[in-house]
Amino acid sequence: MTKVFKFLETKLIHAGEPEPRIEGAVCMPIFQSVNYEYAGESGYHSLKYIRLSNTPNHVAVHQKLAASENAEAALVTASGMAAISTTLLAVLSAGDHLLVQDSLYGGTHGLITQEFPAFGIEYDFIDADDPGSWKLNLRPQTKAIYVETMTNPLLQVGDLQAVVEFARSHGLVSLIDNTFASPVNFRPAEWGFDLSLHSCTKYLNGHSDIAAGAVIGGSSLVEKVKRRLDHLGASLDPHAVFLLHRGMKTLALRVRYQNESTLRIARFLEGHPAVARVNYPGLESHPRHQRAEGLFDGFGGVMSFELKGGVSAAEHFMRHASLPISAPSLGGVETLITRPATTSHSGMSSVDRQRLGITDSLIRLSVGIEATEEIIEDFDRALTVTADQ
Ligand code: PLP
Repeated sequence: MTKVFKFLETKLIHAGEPEPRIEGAVCMPIFQSVNYEYAGESGYHSLKYIRLSNTPNHVAVHQKLAASENAEAALVTASGMAAISTTLLAVLSAGDHLLVQDSLYGGTHGLITQEFPAFGIEYDFIDADDPGSWKLNLRPQTKAIYVETMTNPLLQVGDLQAVVEFARSHGLVSLIDNTFASPVNFRPAEWGFDLSLHSCTKYLNGHSDIAAGAVIGGSSLVEKVKRRLDHLGASLDPHAVFLLHRGMKTLALRVRYQNESTLRIARFLEGHPAVARVNYPGLESHPRHQRAEGLFDGFGGVMSFELKGGVSAAEHFMRHASLPISAPSLGGVETLITRPATTSHSGMSSVDRQRLGITDSLIRLSVGIEATEEIIEDFDRALTVTADQ
C-alpha cells in the first residue's frame, strides 16, 4: 500500500523512502555506481545509468521533491542554473519567444541575454506586476512565461496568479523559479504553474555544501526536461543527491525559523534611523505585502536594505557586522551578507542594475538559523559604529 502523508513536515521525512528499507537502513544509502545490470529496459532514457538520473538515490529524492510541492514528478540537476537552462531548452526551440520577468537572478539574466541569441531564442522582459502590459509583447512564437516567486535581490512579488491565467489563456508554459520561497512558503503546482525550478544549493539542501537544482511539476513536462538533461548531461552525482536528500529532512524546521527570524530583523532594521529602506514582503510597508500574504505561508529568509550613507556606509556596516559571513549565495544555516552589485548581479551592466533599482549600495541579507537576538545585537552595534565613522 502506498503511504499517503498529509503534512509537509512528514513528507520531508518519509516521502520517497525505499520500501522495504534497504538492508533495514534507516537512512537512504549512497549508491555510488555508474551503471546497473541490464534488466530488459526498453529504451535509451530508461537504461539504469548515472547520467540518466535514475539511480536509487535519484528515484528517492525525486519522489521527496515532488511530494514537497504536491506535484506529480521531479528531477534533480547538477545546479540551479542546470535546472533553469535545461528546462528552458526543453520548452523552447530556435524561433521561439519567451516572456520573462525583468528583475531576475543575475545568472538567469545572463543565460537569456547572452546565450539565447546564439540558439535563435528570442525574449522580451515584462513587468510581472503589470499583467495588462504582457499582451503587448505576446507573439505567435511565444511559448513560455518565466517569473521568480520573490525576486532576487529586491524581493518583489509579481502577480503570480495572473501569470498562470495568462499562460493558460495563451497556451504558454508557465515557469517559476521558486528558490527564494522554498516549498515551505509556496508550492507552485497548487497555484497552477506548469513547472517550478529551484536552486537546491540554497534552502532545499540548506547547508551551503553542494550545488544542485530541481525541476518540479507534471509528469509529462518533467519527462521532457529529463530527456533534454540526459543529452545535455548536467545530472547530479549520487553523493550530492544523498546530501540534498538529507538536507531536505530539516527544510520545514529551518525555513519556518528563518521566516520568523527574518521578519524580526527586518522590523528592527526598518525602525533604525540609519536605514533608508528595507525590502521584505513580510513588512506591512512592502508594496505587495497583501498579495504576498495571500500567496505565501511565510516570507522567507532573504531581505535587502539600504543605509542612508550609501555605498561607503554599506561597506562600513558589512565590515563591522561580525556575525554574518560576507559571501554570495543564500538559504544556508549561516547568515550571509553581500552587495549584489559586486556578487550575484555583477554580471549585469550597471545601467541594467540601475534601471531595475539594484543600486550599488543595496545590501542583501540571507538569514541563517543563529539566535535572532544575537544578529540584531550585532547589527545594532555595527550600525552605531557606521553612524559614528
Ligand atoms: N535562482 C536563484 C533565485 C538564485 O538565487 C540562484 C543562485 O544564486 C540560482 C537560481 C542559480 O543556482 P545555482 O547557483 O545552484 O546554479
